[in-house]
Amino acid sequence: MKKNVAIIGAGIGGLTAGYELTKKGYKVTVFEKNKEIGGLLSDFKIEGESLEKTYHHIFKTDKEIIGLIEELGLIDKLKWHKSSVSLFYNDKFYPFSGAIDLLKFGELDLISKIRLGMIYLWLKFDGNWKKYEKVTASEWMEKWAGKRAYEVIWKPLLKGKFHDYNDKVSMAWLWARIHTRGGSKGGPADAKAMAGKEVLGYMNGGFGQINNKLAEKLGIKTGIEVDIKNLEKEFDLIIDTRPIKNIDYIGAVDLIFSSKQSLSNFYWHNINDLKSPFLVLVQHTNLMGNKNYNGKNIYYLGTYVPQDHKYFKVDDREIEKEFFDYLKKIKPEFDEKQILEKNIFKFKNAQHIVNTNYKVPDYKVGEKIYNLNFAQIYPEDRGINFAVKEAKRLVEMINKEN
Ligand SMILES: Cc1cc2nc3c(=O)[nH]c(=O)nc-3n(C[C@H](O)[C@H](O)[C@H](O)COP(=O)(O)OP(=O)(O)OC[C@H]3O[C@@H](n4cnc5c(N)ncnc54)[C@H](O)[C@@H]3O)c2cc1C
Repeated sequence: MKKNVAIIGAGIGGLTAGYELTKKGYKVTVFEKNKEIGGLLSDFKIEGESLEKTYHHIFKTDKEIIGLIEELGLIDKLKWHKSSVSLFYNDKFYPFSGAIDLLKFGELDLISKIRLGMIYLWLKFDGNWKKYEKVTASEWMEKWAGKRAYEVIWKPLLKGKFHDYNDKVSMAWLWARIHTRGGSKGGPADAKAMAGKEVLGYMNGGFGQINNKLAEKLGIKTGIEVDIKNLEKEFDLIIDTRPIKNIDYIGAVDLIFSSKQSLSNFYWHNINDLKSPFLVLVQHTNLMGNKNYNGKNIYYLGTYVPQDHKYFKVDDREIEKEFFDYLKKIKPEFDEKQILEKNIFKFKNAQHIVNTNYKVPDYKVGEKIYNLNFAQIYPEDRGINFAVKEAKRLVEMINKEN
């Protein structure tokens, strides 16, 4: 007889594991501490449309999540759009989508630009990540890109994302980001304007639809934090997707708003200023259009912060003030009065720190307990694609053992 499984956590990882287990005949109950399912991929409503609480897109190379979207009957909702990137540095926004933009970028000398371009190509084609494991991203970049390019491009990104951990992060982590992203290009099935350009996938109606579809097949109990000892008495097997104790995590904060005002022609804006309270400005509707959002523009101001950061303690209005004051500085035309809806979302466990001694946490951690957490995704970046891949891998392992 197939076993009775408890899953702690209804993120995309836990939900996919539950879905795969039910396909194999297991009985599954998912316990989620929040009122809503979805974890880092959870959604809310803005301008009458579902939207992720943290910005999300997928890449052409994300075969696992694309396969799951197809299997769930949602593939007609997945659309590919041409990406556009801008970089804010030294009080100015620069286009930063490809080689031509890099060549035109006025803040770097020609040698630095050539070195950056070579590094990008090198990492894109070099499939051997192992050699990057033991060196930090900051050391490697400073050495190969040169001091100036490191200070202008990479340091603000690494510091903004990892704060005090910035000089501990392994180059294997950065290798994975560049190596994967480089493969997300428009192909023959896409519109002509996208051919050979970076394209990103987004679902009409939002990625929350994946969570909802997966959940249809599962028994889910939300709003409860369970005691694993009690679950052990009641269930044959337990999959635990909670943060892993000996791993360091960093949190994320996102301010999302809708506005009548368009602030940019770009989708993605890296803010390379260490004084900025946010790391990215995302004009979501510049990727997928504003039709679904009553014709309004949708923005994310997003950042990563340590778990003891004041943003986890202060009133949302203080965060809002800091973010909007800075946005006014970099986009003087920004008019708060044109905002229609706004929300702030905070996640304490948003990204694990991959250091140079990183050891992938074990799957089996007890007689009948298995861990499934994005910290097991390595060296790839912990995106929803790899959450699905890991969940499927764990289910295969459980099925073989039981
Ligand atoms: C700012 C940001 C941007 C991102 N952008 C992208 C992107 O563009 N593309 C992409 O592919 N990925 C992106 N990601 C990553 C992606 O969202 C995550 O990798 C993925 O959602 C992780 O899913 P998970 O199930 O592994 O973990 P989680 O979503 O963290 O799920 C864990 C679940 O466990 C629950 N839980 C925790 N403790 C308990 C408890 N005691 N009892 C019960 N339940 C508990 C949590 O509430 C949560 O629902 C982004 C992440 C962030 C933070």
